[in-house]
Amino acid sequence: MGKETNNAATPEQAPVPKSVLAAAPVAAMTSTGAHASAETTGLESPVSAVAGVGSARARLLAKRGILTVGDLLLDAPRRHEDRRQFSKIRDLQEGQKTTVSGKVIAMGNKTFARTGRSVFEVILDDGSAHLHCRWWNLPQMERFFDVGDELVVHGKVRSLRPKAMDHPETETLSSVTREADPETVATGVAGAAGAAGTVDLAEEPSLHVGRWVPIYSLTDGLTQRARRWIAWNALKTFGERIPEADPDLLVEASRLGWTASADGQQEIPLLAQEWPSRAQAIRDLHFPVSDTDAERARQRLALDEFIALQSEIQRRRLNLEAKATALPCQGDNLLMRPFLARLGFRPTQAQNRVLREIREDMGGLVPMRRLLQGDVGSGKTLVAAAAALMALESGYSAVVMAPTEILAQQLHANFRRWLEPLQIPVHLWTASVKSRSEPGLNLGLSDVGLTVGTHALIESSFLPERLGLVIIDEQHRFGVAQRERLLRKGRYPHLLVMTATPIPRTLGLTLYGDLDISVLDEKPPGRGKIRTHLRTPDALPKVWAFIRRELELGHQAYIVYPRILDNGEEDTKSVETEYPRICKALEPHAVGKLHGRMPPEEKERILGEFRAGRIQALVATSVIEVGIDVPQATLMLIENAQQFGLAQLHQLRGRIGRGAAESHCILVSGKASASSAASAAPSAPLPSDPRLKAFSETDDGFELAELDFKLRGVGELTGLAQSGSDHLRFGSLIEDRPLVEFARQLVRRHLRRPPTGNSATDPSNKAR
Ligand code: ADP
Ligand code: MG
Repeated sequence: MGKETNNAATPEQAPVPKSVLAAAPVAAMTSTGAHASAETTGLESPVSAVAGVGSARARLLAKRGILTVGDLLLDAPRRHEDRRQFSKIRDLQEGQKTTVSGKVIAMGNKTFARTGRSVFEVILDDGSAHLHCRWWNLPQMERFFDVGDELVVHGKVRSLRPKAMDHPETETLSSVTREADPETVATGVAGAAGAAGTVDLAEEPSLHVGRWVPIYSLTDGLTQRARRWIAWNALKTFGERIPEADPDLLVEASRLGWTASADGQQEIPLLAQEWPSRAQAIRDLHFPVSDTDAERARQRLALDEFIALQSEIQRRRLNLEAKATALPCQGDNLLMRPFLARLGFRPTQAQNRVLREIREDMGGLVPMRRLLQGDVGSGKTLVAAAAALMALESGYSAVVMAPTEILAQQLHANFRRWLEPLQIPVHLWTASVKSRSEPGLNLGLSDVGLTVGTHALIESSFLPERLGLVIIDEQHRFGVAQRERLLRKGRYPHLLVMTATPIPRTLGLTLYGDLDISVLDEKPPGRGKIRTHLRTPDALPKVWAFIRRELELGHQAYIVYPRILDNGEEDTKSVETEYPRICKALEPHAVGKLHGRMPPEEKERILGEFRAGRIQALVATSVIEVGIDVPQATLMLIENAQQFGLAQLHQLRGRIGRGAAESHCILVSGKASASSAASAAPSAPLPSDPRLKAFSETDDGFELAELDFKLRGVGELTGLAQSGSDHLRFGSLIEDRPLVEFARQLVRRHLRRPPTGNSATDPSNKAR
């Protein structure tokens, strides 16, 4: 979309604006500058501009958020039905999902005296055989049919003797008696009658049979036939006027040849050369000639969405490159050398590679904008420290923002241990503590140094001197807006964001298109194996015995519950209720508890005790999910495991396996079997949750992220719901990877094309 998004001070401050994205498809149809204005397309007109839509139907459409002609055209059918030929009732197979058409030869309600249940039945004859259509406990269905009516029914064949469908979708093709729309709504539930108004006789007769027919989601009172006819009319009047979202990009696309992605891994699935125009795609969306047309139309519209998303992201990046001058922060190794020498271990190859990438960025002309992805335990903290050193060597200060107080404190302790011997002041800045470092080193906040903190760093009172580098740990916990606010504490400081939540590649490209990506794909050497076990509560006595044995070996354990306090749900355990029991069960070992409602000093104290080995088992909520690093901890017991997300479980499991000893992660979920005598069952039954099963079978964070992403959607995974990808209406970041990649390349080439004499494709001509 040829719009200027940023007119304020920093070119990248705005997150991908939700409004723009939410409106993208409609806006793309209507507001593309010179090519077509709202007046000429009419797509912004209210739905009542469409023939057949009066005030009653306009109200019904509004219930589904359809206000304008544009909304109407983009309200895709939920499926299409092939009505070129109906199945013969005689040939139906059990379990088959299909569409038949026939005449009602008999109908009636039957009530079963004993159970009080009733069934309404319509018997349909298509000349080959009879089909019984049944609706259970919906006697009012009778109102919608008459003997002699011609019906289309769609559903699953439940039985063959007699041939029957239960609760099929129905549509009345012709009615012997009724004038008003007689057919029921898609759900087959009553309440659909009457209100729809009258069937216009001018209706295209060929709309409803003899073709691929759209089936829409409806609101009570609007019938399939009426909705279909409205779509038809809207296309008839407005269909020719639908503009391309960005004609320049189409030129670019034909230059790119609509080919597969550059990395050659993924092909665009449909015949790329034959992409329909946007106008054609919208027609095909409703009335395709074939199911291939319908899918191609969806992909074409999805492409427009991905292009809009990519344009936003990439424009933001280009703005930065055009306007910002990078601070010279490549460093001179004067601190780095002694730092690495004292470290006690060698950086992994992956850490070295990433540090080279970072040094290149921080010495470059454009401020670094880099995302570091590294699975839990891959050693991101070391990379952060080394990056901070580069800035510090160059005379600039660095800031590290962490999502929780505990994590900030732990990082602070770590950085002090590493950096204070080099005479670098390391401060802490959280809601409860503002600045603290070794006496004598604390030269005051106005001095160049390293500050570690929480989101309290965003407050206006935090004013770092000569801010050169912003590091955000566990980026997925923060929104884009927060990261931008911290960046504005300096003048285009470098930015390194780190995350242990592996982001599926497509999503990374889409959400973080303005960031370069580095990956720590190697774990530090000498880590013990982690085994994951799934258990039901029946196995708990054995589990506790096992934990006792491990503690006796000098190992430590985390025990995690979903809640701090009981809330009366009998199946959900809590830290406060379990803690005294566990203290008793594990006697004489010392047990501590940790959760988000404890005062920060108390949390810090407990964690210190655990780290020092004075506490052997820590009963906690998922507060320990992020960042905590205690190598002697080898056990993780998670009860009510089904209540945690996969990404969260992965983070929790990442707390163990940090030392050389073998570690065990035990997930308990499901109900105890009725006879609670555990020995009664020869082998404990496994919890049935397929997510947990998948989790126990892999420790590949990327694989789990993909799975989580499929199961729970984008926002859940990234905490970045505001970044716009939730508003994709036609596109799916999982299913449409090749399209996402194609859009990315297309926009990239388009935006980065050097100005040429060819004004038609010069992007600078588009700025208004
Ligand atoms: P994460 O990527 O999850 O933040 P950390 O930075 O907390 O991981 O690192 C986990 C542990 O591994 C820490 O104890 C850290 O000191 C250690 N570590 C990091 N890099 C190396 C390395 N190259 N060799 C050995 N241990 C390392
Ligand atoms: Mg970390």
